[in-house]
Amino acid sequence: MRVSRLMLVTLRDDPAEAEIPSHKLLLRAGYIRRVGSGIYAYLPLLWRVLQKISAIVREELNATGALETLLPQLQPAELWQRSGRWAGYTDGEGIMFHLEDRQGRELGLGPTHEEVITALAGDLLRSYRQLPVNLYQIQTKFRNEERPRFGVLRTSEFLMKDAYSFGTSLEQLNVAYDAMYNAYCRIFERCGLKYLPVEAESGPIGGDASHEFMVPASNGEDFVIHCPDCSYAANQERAETGRKSSLPQPVTDAPAPTLVPTPDAGSIEQVSKLLKSSPQAFIKTLIYKADGKPVAVLLRGDHTANEGKIRRAAKATSVELADEATILQVTGAPVGFAGPIGIQCPCLIDHDVPAIRSAIIGANAKDAHLTGVIPGTHFPVTETFDLRNAEAEDPCPKCPATLKMVHGIEVGHVFKLGTRYSISMNANYVDAQEVSHPIIMGCYGIGVTRVVASIVETCHDENGIIWPLNVAPCSVMLIPLNVTDPEVMKASERIYQELNDAGVDVLMDDRDQRPGFKFKDADLIGIPLRITIGGKGLAEGIAEVKWRGSAETHKPALASTTAFVREQLASRS
Ligand code: ATP
Ligand code: MG
Repeated sequence: MRVSRLMLVTLRDDPAEAEIPSHKLLLRAGYIRRVGSGIYAYLPLLWRVLQKISAIVREELNATGALETLLPQLQPAELWQRSGRWAGYTDGEGIMFHLEDRQGRELGLGPTHEEVITALAGDLLRSYRQLPVNLYQIQTKFRNEERPRFGVLRTSEFLMKDAYSFGTSLEQLNVAYDAMYNAYCRIFERCGLKYLPVEAESGPIGGDASHEFMVPASNGEDFVIHCPDCSYAANQERAETGRKSSLPQPVTDAPAPTLVPTPDAGSIEQVSKLLKSSPQAFIKTLIYKADGKPVAVLLRGDHTANEGKIRRAAKATSVELADEATILQVTGAPVGFAGPIGIQCPCLIDHDVPAIRSAIIGANAKDAHLTGVIPGTHFPVTETFDLRNAEAEDPCPKCPATLKMVHGIEVGHVFKLGTRYSISMNANYVDAQEVSHPIIMGCYGIGVTRVVASIVETCHDENGIIWPLNVAPCSVMLIPLNVTDPEVMKASERIYQELNDAGVDVLMDDRDQRPGFKFKDADLIGIPLRITIGGKGLAEGIAEVKWRGSAETHKPALASTTAFVREQLASRS
């Protein structure tokens, strides 16, 4: 490939709309171009990167016995109605782009493919003899994201590898899941990513049924809680705090709480300012509806509620924050003044609440709070739960160490689905006794374009991208310093030809530009190995060879430069 034929346009300055390094560098180095909000053109150099990542994905998945397929992106509403997901995916907050065809039939643009694949499985997989099976595809997905941002990290259409396994038993599911988990580790490793598999939501199977693959990065949108001593790692949604509390003994001679006026101060921030105390001194009382019934959740003022934990503690199938009318009904006050004393619904109390010795709570009356409240004395505490998001410095749930928190980018997700889709969509097989059972499924996703964002986010310096060799658009960047010098071009063309013949992918910067300009672009584009030909070196009969990101320059003889470069590449692959 020749740069002159690449319609390469590089930018010297950071584009105004780009906030994070991967977005800036991919735009500046000419890999992507914005077409609309969350919509990008993948230019030829990026397409080569995507092809290399896809090839790694294919190799590793094929090795597990998974089969590549290609499913339609236009999906009939009827399939999503059968699974029960059409309404949720297409209402105001839904992420599915949807449309009608000329005949007025409703269609969705696939954000994921459980419905399509389960319908196919129900049609084709009828007997235990046909199972297990695992199918995957690499294809564009569409999602009407609330906030597309950060270049190709979160877009409205993106490349995803999605896979779906089908089996007759939990054992078959576990085998497929472990094979995918291990294949993911190899894929991310080969892509040059530092990654962390973390426990994620458990879904219908419960237990250890889902892992996300996170790339630790300061601009990641997810929070990962992990223990530096043991292997515990989970996303914030799932992470346990490892806190326990002993139930408080009632204090016999405790003075009654003091009623303090807090006019128009309903938030913890406002009240703590007014009363000059820290949020840690507050007990915040959040009113939820668990399966439709009101329940109060008590947390320390600076902690954040975790709905999954609340749902489990309430033994409910769904929880949501209560509406204003419910809050008025159980507290007798408008939003912002709820407290556990005299509240007309059951309370779920977080482990950290009893440790607050003299707490501030809402008074269940407009514009009033109570101070000097002692949990277990002024309101009953008979049981405590883990109801909040884990944070850094919480105790590890698995060992005596304390937890750490880092930002992460979710690049992949493996999930034991169980029979959620096979039951609703009637995908059954018969066993050896001709008895029918729902097929047991797993699903497995990798955000291929997000992998690119993650690589650039973690592999760059102030001058540009530093591609890991395995996924670089080309292995070698060949720079003839002066393209008008026939000697320079003769030597460059020869090496270009020799490398191409040897199957090494080379990008030659054959533009008539100053050396400084070409070096800047080379650093920006980030191709791993750079060969420079011309100037003093040519007179001495040598080329200059240098790895991107390393200060060391090698000077092989011009005649043996091709062999030297091949050795260098072999030593790193
Ligand atoms: P997120 O929580 O980041 O929105 P998700 O959990 O909804 O992602 P999955 O349904 O698990 O995403 O999709 C599988 C993979 O696809 C994700 O792990 C991620 O790498 C990628 N992905 C999801 N949404 C996007 C997007 N809008 N843009 C780019 N990649 C995405
Ligand atoms: Mg996910």
